[in-house]
Amino acid sequence: MKSLSGMRVGILIVVVLTFAASAIFSYQRQSEIRNHLELVQKSGAWSVSELEGELLKFTQVLELSGLGQRSQEQLTLRFDLLWSRLDTLRIGIETHAIRQQPGAVELFVELSQLLQKNENAVFALEPGDKPEADRLLNAFVAVQPKVRELNVNSFYDPYRMGLSEGGTPPPVSLSLSMLGLLLSGAALVLLVIRESARNRQQALHDDLTGLPNRKYFNALLQRTEADVANRGNRCGVLVIDLDNFKDINDTFGHAAGDQLLREVSQRLRSSLYDDAIVARLGGDEFAVLLQSSDDLSKCIEQVNRLCQRIGQAVEIGEERISVSASIGVSIYPDDGVSIRQVMGNADLAMYLAKRQEGVSFRIYDAEMSTQRLRRRELARQLRQAIVKDQLLLNFQPLVQLSSGKIESLEALLRWHHADYGYISPLEVVSIAEQYDLALVLNEWVIDQVCRQISLWQQSGLPGVKVAVNISPSMYSKHDLVGTVSRFIEQHGIDARQLCIEVTEDTTMRDIDSSPGILKALRKLGVELALDDFGTGYSSLSHLKQLPVHKLKIDKSFVQDLNTEPKDLRFIRTILNLAASMKLTVVAEGIESVQNLDDLRQAGCPIGQGYLFSRPVDAVAMEQLLLDQQAGRLLQGGDEMAANIDRLGCVTVYPTTG
Ligand code: C2E
Ligand code: MG
Ligand code: MG
Repeated sequence: MKSLSGMRVGILIVVVLTFAASAIFSYQRQSEIRNHLELVQKSGAWSVSELEGELLKFTQVLELSGLGQRSQEQLTLRFDLLWSRLDTLRIGIETHAIRQQPGAVELFVELSQLLQKNENAVFALEPGDKPEADRLLNAFVAVQPKVRELNVNSFYDPYRMGLSEGGTPPPVSLSLSMLGLLLSGAALVLLVIRESARNRQQALHDDLTGLPNRKYFNALLQRTEADVANRGNRCGVLVIDLDNFKDINDTFGHAAGDQLLREVSQRLRSSLYDDAIVARLGGDEFAVLLQSSDDLSKCIEQVNRLCQRIGQAVEIGEERISVSASIGVSIYPDDGVSIRQVMGNADLAMYLAKRQEGVSFRIYDAEMSTQRLRRRELARQLRQAIVKDQLLLNFQPLVQLSSGKIESLEALLRWHHADYGYISPLEVVSIAEQYDLALVLNEWVIDQVCRQISLWQQSGLPGVKVAVNISPSMYSKHDLVGTVSRFIEQHGIDARQLCIEVTEDTTMRDIDSSPGILKALRKLGVELALDDFGTGYSSLSHLKQLPVHKLKIDKSFVQDLNTEPKDLRFIRTILNLAASMKLTVVAEGIESVQNLDDLRQAGCPIGQGYLFSRPVDAVAMEQLLLDQQAGRLLQGGDEMAANIDRLGCVTVYPTTG
């Protein structure tokens, strides 16, 4: 690419230089011609002028001879000079132009005949012979006005003199320079036209894939809106976003990412009807305009084909990369009053497809907009709820599987909305992320947890450690370390009583600064846990760089133990990996005694789950902690059913050992 554009610049420079050289050369030639013409004109004109002068002098001498005041020699001298002036004008290249003047040649012939005819009479004239002198004088004075006129014209009318014919330099060199000028000028114009066409193409197309870009696509949508209104038909808009493209980019490198995007764009083009237009909106986001989508089933057929084609593994170098996409489909004019609105709806449908596991495309329906409105309304109210302290924290114990002792607690967010009821923390967090509330929400949680730790400490409970979940943008966009240290200090708690939980995916968001953030937190003295471990896309090399203390195996792996045949391999692998990295392991989602037995058998040290306790509020949790202080441990076991629900939750109090 670089060398190509270097070549283009080189060609442009050569053309410009040729043009400039031709222009200078032509200018010089023109100046030469002009000088030459002027010279020719002047010398010719001067010859006529000299002729007129000589004629005047001759007539004067003639007149004086008649009066006897000039000698015969003086007269013949002037006569000879007059002859010679005339000869200069009748022959020779310098006076060629003069002869081109209308009537000039005739005048010269007339003059030479006059001289010839009177030559003998002039030579024979006796000084004082006035009658003969007057006759001669009259003959010569008669031509004087014609000579005068020729003289004047020679000075003032060079073009009538036809100078170009006789006075131009060799015509070949002039036309060559003009040809050079014309050719280089034409080349320059062509280059400018080509460059501007290329610029136009670049302004409307994406460099990497050659597909139309967002600007072009938007213009196309506008045009299509008008067409659809005229024809009264429908068109479909697809918004396509690749799943986990960032992870692929981070893992395999940007060159592989680029190649993948090129391959995907090819596949998009080849799996759609000919009149479909595919555009790249930016990053890993594409859009498609299906120009005639009167038949929805055909539209879905294309989308299905598209998903299938994208899902086929891509070979990049030695790697086989699997990729999937989330697609949103919306139809104009069925789904919106303007095509822009339809595009927004396709985007919303895509967003929902992405959030729903195992779903590759969604077709927009009005309910989605209702959902969006709901989220927007919830976001507005969440902001107020945070300010007014209307959120709650529940706490769930993490239990040492060997002893039943509470190892630590996890704080979990709860929001009971007056109109919408219970809103899951996952939804609260996703709304906060979407509506720029992550900082205030995370600050609120960290503040509350630190306050609670301090309160429990003041009430004489043994120092219990509490884990806080951190949302992705708090980690990647805001000053997490500063916020944590500020609240630790503000509530005067021991940093070791706080644990920060981040998911594997969150650490992947900012892969370069992740180790630094975690190190700084570790330096504060807080514990670090990698949450939902096993569900993300991080590689072992990434994991090795993260200075965490704990791995929390995602509950889906524990739930997998409930199927037959039971597969403990994943959990054993994690335990081995953790042992080699000197990390401790927590198994989430322990719901049954069977789960507990399996995990104990596999050697898992810590567990969390409904079997021990559901998340409960601070008051109930305080009671649990007091119970533990009194020696009643959360071991799970056969007696658990008997102890259910004293605290309004499935909390198990096995007899102490
Ligand atoms: P998580 O951090 O993995 O939390 C554990 C989730 O598993 C909690 O769901 C908990 O109630 C649930 N759980 C515990 N034991 C069991 C069990 O035996 N079976 C089943 N099926 N589930 C169990 P919850 O409270 O709904 O929270 C869901 C997720 O929301 C959390 O997953 C965490 O990622 C996020 N979250 C919760 N609170 C906060 C918060 O304060 N801040 C942030 N950023 N995220 C939070
Ligand atoms: Mg957690
Ligand atoms: Mg978890």
